[in-house]
Formats: sequence, C-alpha cells, structure tokens
Amino acid sequence: MSDKQNNTMEKIVSLCKRRGFIFPCSEIYGGLANSYSYGPYGTALKNNIEKLWWRKFVENREDMVGMDGPIILHPKVWEASGHTEGFNDAMVDCKACKYRFRVDHLIQEAIGEDMEGDLDGMNKKLQEEEIKCPQCGKKDWTDIREINMMFKTQMNGFDGEVYLRPETAGAIFLDFKNIIDSLRVKVPFGIAQTGKAFRNEIVAKSFIFRVREFEQMEIEYFIHPEADWESIFEEWLKKQEEFAQSLGAKKEDLRRYEHPESKLSHYSKKTVDVEYNYPFGGFDELFGLAHRGDFDLTQHAKYSKKDLSYTDPFSGEKYVPHVIEPTFGLDRCVLTSLCAAYTEEEVSDTSRVVLKFPRDLAPVKIAVFPLLRNREELVGKAREVFDILKEHFVCEFDDNGNIGKRYRRQDEIGTPYCVTVDFDSLDNDDVTIRDRDTTEQNRVKLGELLDYFKDRLISL
Ligand code: ATP
Repeated sequence: MSDKQNNTMEKIVSLCKRRGFIFPCSEIYGGLANSYSYGPYGTALKNNIEKLWWRKFVENREDMVGMDGPIILHPKVWEASGHTEGFNDAMVDCKACKYRFRVDHLIQEAIGEDMEGDLDGMNKKLQEEEIKCPQCGKKDWTDIREINMMFKTQMNGFDGEVYLRPETAGAIFLDFKNIIDSLRVKVPFGIAQTGKAFRNEIVAKSFIFRVREFEQMEIEYFIHPEADWESIFEEWLKKQEEFAQSLGAKKEDLRRYEHPESKLSHYSKKTVDVEYNYPFGGFDELFGLAHRGDFDLTQHAKYSKKDLSYTDPFSGEKYVPHVIEPTFGLDRCVLTSLCAAYTEEEVSDTSRVVLKFPRDLAPVKIAVFPLLRNREELVGKAREVFDILKEHFVCEFDDNGNIGKRYRRQDEIGTPYCVTVDFDSLDNDDVTIRDRDTTEQNRVKLGELLDYFKDRLISL
C-alpha cells in the first residue's frame, strides 16, 4: 500500500469520527477489537443506501419480493447449508510477536496467490516460500488451525447451542414454501432480505471493510434448472455494477474477479466478485454473485424431510428451482461511498475537503442558514424556509459561526445544497442557493424553491 493511499484512508477515518459518521465502538472502555458504531450521519448514509437498494431490487421489480427473517434460526439450518462443518477460515500465529493472521490473506499479500480453502497447500507454501511475519519480520509460525466463523450462543427453551446467523440468505430458503404458497410468485422470481450477519473473523481490519458484526443485503433468485442461466447471471452482474456506480464508484475503480474452478464449491457453476479499488490495499470484494444450483433447497428438503419443490401453475411441471445469489455488504457499500466521495480540492484559492456523495445518498440534503444569527428578521425568515423544506427533504438549520465555516462543515458531510437568507431576501422574498460541487450561487424566489429542489433531489 502506498503512503498516499494510507494517508487518504487515515483522513477518511478521521473525518468519519470528527463529523459524526463512524466512531470506534466502546471507546470509553478502551475500544473493542475493530468494532464501530455509526453516528448520526453514518446512520443516515447507511439507511439511504439500504432504501435505494430496496427500491431498486424489490419495489421497482415485479419479479421480486422482500422478507425479514430472524437472526437466530434452528441450528439444523446451518448443518444443512454446510456452515457447521465447513464455514471455516485458517489462522496462524507468529510465535515471536504473537500477531494472528488469516493464512490465505497472509499468503495472498506475500506472494499474490489465492489459496483460500486449500489447507495443505497453504501449510506447504508458508514453509516453502519462507513467508515472514509482516509485523516483526520473523519466520516462526505456529501450526495452521481452522476455526469455525459462526458465533455461538444459547437460547432459553432450546437445548444445545444456537448460532447468530453468518449470512442473511439462510432464512430465505426456510420461507421459500411459505412464499410460493401465499403469494402469486412464478419462477423466475427472487426473494430479498437485508439485516445483520455475524462472523467471528480471525482478524477484523481495514476500518468497516472487515468487521465481526455487519449488514448484508441478499437475494435468492429462483430459476428453472434448464433456463439460460448464463444470461441471467450476466444480467445480475450488470445490476450489481450499476448499483456500485449509484454509490458513487467510478467505472474504472470496479472490476470483476471470477473464482477459479479450484475455489468453487462443488454445487456452484460460477462465482464472480465485484471488486472496488479501495484506498487501502487496492481492489477487494464489494459484492458477490454465485450460481448455487439446487444445493440449498435440496439440502433443506433432505434435512427437514419436507418437499421444497415448485409446481409450474401453467404446465404442471414439478421441479426444484436453481438459484442465483447476488449478495451485497451494506457496510462495504458505506465504505465505498465514503471513499468515492472523498475529495480534496482548491476552490477560489482555498483548499477544501468535500464528500461528493450522489445527491440521493447524502445524509443531509439541504442546509438552511440565516446570514447572521443575531438578526431576528433573518433568523425568522430562515426558520420559515427551513419549516417548508424539512417537510420534503432532510434539512439542517445552522446559524453557528460565519458562512464560510458553515459551508466547510456542510461540504465535509456532503450536503448538496446550502440555502442562505440574507438582507436582500427580506426585500425580494428570495434566497441564495449554493451548489456543493460547483460552489456556484443562484438566487431563487421563495415561491419556486420547493420545485427547484423537487427537480434536483429524490427523497428515498
Ligand atoms: P471475504 O472474501 O471478503 O471474506 P466473503 O466472500 O466471505 O467475503 P460473502 O460470504 O460472499 O463474503 O458475503 C457477502 C458480502 O458480505 C460480501 O460481498 C461483503 O460485502 C460482505 N461481508 C462479508 N464478510 C464481511 C465482514 N466481515 N465485514 C463486512 N462485510 C462483510
């Protein structure tokens, strides 16, 4: 990672704390291993991304329905899906400095080889390539150990261990039958779900990129086993890339990574990650897309002894649908959006930091200022403007400090428009609107203000 990249990431992390987007969690107790809280603006940004996703992938499509299943499911679910047995990552400790690493990441960073899942291969590589500890430079490794990444917990009234879900998708298959029996969905169709997922990651790192408690937005898209799955797969991949661009990601900062056959699960015909060029370490996974065949429905049918097939209402054909699974990490969306928006630039001989979010995603859409806080007539009029606009958009009233300082603060939280009430406003019944990206200022009559913003902003 270059110093410049490192530096940019540090600046983004610091801005997130300073401006109320993301805070280190449990900080007053010394922090808790790379966990974070979303502050007021981070929560608004995250909610906007989730709403945009739900609108694009559920509400705007006739072939999709949404659901919301629980975090704790029957433990048999994870036996059937293979998580209890195989949702493992391999770790190794440096005996000298006690640092812990995820082995596939250690090897990837040292020699650029992707060996995820190949335990014997990784063991050999670690020795043969004489890979050194990136922390202390020694070559004194413990044996590699695999750990299951699911968080275990207990539940009153249930004997034995239960798990916090490691992905949201699991619950979707459990309600497949309920959904086809209660709605008029016809294959091809999809079920979407968003919510928390928990993974006991060996190393949580890179800010909110890899955390142990995160949010996913997932879809299971059910298709006929003989359908032209390649074109449906390609269609979803394009939708994922479009969604990444609606977060603000530039085309050139996105790429596809197709998993080699050696890395594919036995049931998957194809798996592709959509990667983003993060300012730490470069390209890494943002979204995933997998063809999972009929594995999940067949496994759950086998473990539950229930019939999970589908009968075509027209032809009467009965079959177990195959599934294409587009999966999106919400926290990685927030991170991508922050990284893509972060801009340092010179404007009229002064330098500024501005978050150039796509306007729909900005936590605050319009800030309203009276030119001076100690002039009642200006404050009163600015309040009137604020009261009108806040019914339609997320607005903020700010009368703190001079106008330059207020613009700087709104730039740093990415507010697309600032509206100022000055002395001319009192005579002319108009305001000044300043555009975040161009910094150009426009005078608009109060009677036209709402339409002006309705043409330019969508409220999600
Ligand atoms: P990785 O290879 O980065 O560990 P994965 O392939 O295990 O990710 P999936 O199981 O495909 O991830 O999960 C779907 C999505 O959930 C990912 O594309 C990513 O956006 C998000 N995600 C997965 N693990 C984490 C995590 N620990 N923290 C934040 N987001 C995550």
